[in-house]
Amino acid sequence: MSDYDYDLFVIGAGSGGVRASRIASSYGAKVAVAEEYRVGGTCVIRGCVPKKLLVFGSHFAEDLEDAQNYGWEIEGTKFSWQVLRDRVLGDVDRLNAAYKSTLNNHNVTIIEERATIIAPHRVKLASGQEISAKYILIAVGARPYVPEFPGSEHCLTSNEMFHLEELPRRAVIAGGGYIANEFAGILNGLGTRVTVVNRGDTILRGYDESLRDRLLQISMTKGIEFKFKAPFEKIEKREDGTLDVFLKGQDPINTDIVMMATGRVPNVEGLGLEHVGITTDDQGAIPVDEYSKTACDSIYAVGDVTNRVQLTPVAIREGQAFADTVFGGTPKTVDYNCIPTAVFSQPPIASVGLTEGEARNRYGNIRVYSADFRPMRNVFAHRAERGLYKMITEEPSGKILGLHMIGPDSPEILQAAAIAVKAGLTKQAFDDTVALHPSMAEELVLMK
Ligand code: NDP
Repeated sequence: MSDYDYDLFVIGAGSGGVRASRIASSYGAKVAVAEEYRVGGTCVIRGCVPKKLLVFGSHFAEDLEDAQNYGWEIEGTKFSWQVLRDRVLGDVDRLNAAYKSTLNNHNVTIIEERATIIAPHRVKLASGQEISAKYILIAVGARPYVPEFPGSEHCLTSNEMFHLEELPRRAVIAGGGYIANEFAGILNGLGTRVTVVNRGDTILRGYDESLRDRLLQISMTKGIEFKFKAPFEKIEKREDGTLDVFLKGQDPINTDIVMMATGRVPNVEGLGLEHVGITTDDQGAIPVDEYSKTACDSIYAVGDVTNRVQLTPVAIREGQAFADTVFGGTPKTVDYNCIPTAVFSQPPIASVGLTEGEARNRYGNIRVYSADFRPMRNVFAHRAERGLYKMITEEPSGKILGLHMIGPDSPEILQAAAIAVKAGLTKQAFDDTVALHPSMAEELVLMK
């Protein structure tokens, strides 16, 4: 008999928490997971999944336009935001139920309450009940960060974007990262006039410069407006409900909504970290070792709350490695090298490994190959939009250091190519592979 109510008590049923719970349970542990909102976490409930569905919905605008060049006569097209929104929210309900049944099928007890840590082996639920556990896993994720300035309370975040009553006629999006560019594409496609406002002078800092330039140029051609080096001064709400946005050194903008996409901060408030001697770092994140163990021996943390790499598949790997290590008897760490990522902008960007700048700084002797092409589908549809693929190699070995793509379906293509980069293959291995014709992906083996 264990001295504790549970072997593992997980706080937060998102990507990392759910994976850790069910794997620990499959190793024979008695597991409970506390979730105050819905099972699935940011990715499923208000992130990756509903966002991607909105991208699909938005892209039909261009597809319908292009269809005419392929002989389709389409009359009377009409878009309903309410239909798309409700169908997306319906899918979120489906996934929430699917995640719950996965946990139930793995004998994980779901506790639909907020839990606070009160001692190294003890949590207290919102209802007042106290529960003991041999190990506690913190997997509470992160939330949108909204900078404070006069009127910032009028801003929305990505959380609310999935629930809008009406599609806004005009939108200002603050930030130049993943979320800003993804929602700029979604709203622009659906017919909203979008202005992206960033504090710096670039979008997607950290991505390869050539791709960023290409996305910026295409986005502007599609009608998205960008304002750089434009910090917010204040936002005032008019009687008609519209917002006046005042930016430093710019004319004010009257708009219907302002969405903040200025990064995400770990959800550590009210967790009770002070009761177990865990202090957060300067980003507000919980510091952990390579096995995801915190400063308290019985408490671990995975996912966005640790602010290592804020990506769903990374949180899943961290949850899996934790369960393997603590309950499976096989200590495992996560390899953070060569993690492929994508921005679901329109067109999307996909990337793995070092950017040209990073590779030059780190290795000095590098070579850059590229393919700058107009996809066949676009040529036929009289669409000027060009794709760009870029490969960076270490010389003289030819080992691939980075692969970066912008163009239709680039995340789908890069996932497979990332295996080659992760495996340490060379440019020669790509050259040796016969092209698959006609495809966009063949550009990968034809780069000069
Ligand atoms: P990002 O970190 O991608 O971008 C944040 C943007 O906000 C940057 O342009 C940054 O500017 C700006 N910013 C940061 N702080 C401030 C501030 N105080 N005032 C004004 N501007 C500010 O964050 P997102 O919110 O877009 O996304 C959060 C995270 O979620 C991402 O980092 C990513 O890990 C994850 N995510 C992943 C997706 C995917 O995989 N497709 C999709 C969506 C989110 P600057 O460049 O100057 O720092």
